[in-house]
Amino acid sequence: MDQQDFDEWGFGTLAVRAGQMRTGEGEQSEAIFPTSSFRFDSAAQAAARFGGTEPGNIYSRFTNPTVRTFEQRLAALEGGERCVATSSGMAAILATCMGLLKSGDHIVSSRAIFGSTVVLFDSFMGRFGVQTSYVPQTDLDAWEAAIRPNTRLLFVETPSNPLTEIADIRALAEIAHRHGCLLAVDNCFCTPALQQPLALGADIVIHSATKYIDGQGRCLGGAVVGSEELVGKEVFGFLRTAGPTMSPFNAWVFLKGLETLKLRMQAHSANALALAQWLEQQPQVARVYYPGLASHPQHALATAQQKGYGGIVAFEVKGGREQAWGVIDATRMLSITANLGDAKSTITHPATTTHGRLSAEQKAEAGIGEGLIRISVGLEEVDDIKADLARGLALI
Ligand SMILES: *Cc1c(COP(=O)(O)O)cnc(C)c1O
Repeated sequence: MDQQDFDEWGFGTLAVRAGQMRTGEGEQSEAIFPTSSFRFDSAAQAAARFGGTEPGNIYSRFTNPTVRTFEQRLAALEGGERCVATSSGMAAILATCMGLLKSGDHIVSSRAIFGSTVVLFDSFMGRFGVQTSYVPQTDLDAWEAAIRPNTRLLFVETPSNPLTEIADIRALAEIAHRHGCLLAVDNCFCTPALQQPLALGADIVIHSATKYIDGQGRCLGGAVVGSEELVGKEVFGFLRTAGPTMSPFNAWVFLKGLETLKLRMQAHSANALALAQWLEQQPQVARVYYPGLASHPQHALATAQQKGYGGIVAFEVKGGREQAWGVIDATRMLSITANLGDAKSTITHPATTTHGRLSAEQKAEAGIGEGLIRISVGLEEVDDIKADLARGLALI
């Protein structure tokens, strides 16, 4: 596969073809290489591989052909020089921190990030002398004011979970670079099919491949995408030593996921928009959060920055926990689970699950009310999703 093809191909073609390398068997679908190590023709070749004078595989903690195919394909889709695949989304965030930060460094992060990322930053990175300050997702002045002389990384997830707040990636990249910092964007909710943070100025893109890249709720995985220098050298350097690598089987599942990513994200987005518009008309619903609605505070920014609005819809029912739980418990089709990005729609009560560890004050500050419900809108017929929710709404 030569680089020229990569440069000429559009997104849909890259998603199906980029990175594929066929064996002598001439297989049409990508091969899985379940092998922990690779054999050498001679002692001299082994020495050359270990010494780095001859490129090639040594051991699957370092490189594996199936994993490499996935890395090359995702790098092509994000427009990055290099991708490193990891065993989970959290492993991707850990590898980014361990590869790029040192004791005494400081992170500025949106406070609307994934719960486990907050625990990683505060309880673990904090223990090694890396402090994190949290700022409101959309307040650019607060981001800039929080930067200190030792700030090295700005970290954001957009759209946020569950309220779908949109951060201005281009503006954050400009602030980061003006202060000599890097901007990392967790692109899990949009995927490169809807948003390409590197083209907007971000330095690092992070994925939980567990979500839309798989798209059918089967495997855990993650990825870090960026420059050869930051990702190929620093992040990969940590990964090959510490070992949170992706398994070849999971890489193969994710490769298959990438082939249909664009079509699926378009379908998730269309279903989510139709559901959000319908929810806005229901008298029992106090508020709907979806970037595709004209009522969303960052609707214009989402339209400019994204190619679609994604599959996550949140809404508040009138009343509180009792009413929200009533809607959730009245469903017969939607899956009550905190996972997202699945072909199957899922329904969650953030205040008592994903955000249950926050104090009442922190929940109020983050806008997580007791009446809030989050739906990861799947690929079922949207009329069936509406009917499943209408039953519970009618009880309010
Ligand atoms: C799920 C998720 C993660 C963590 O990914 P895992 O694969 O579960 O480790 C990180 N960021 C976001 C936005 C997520 O939704």
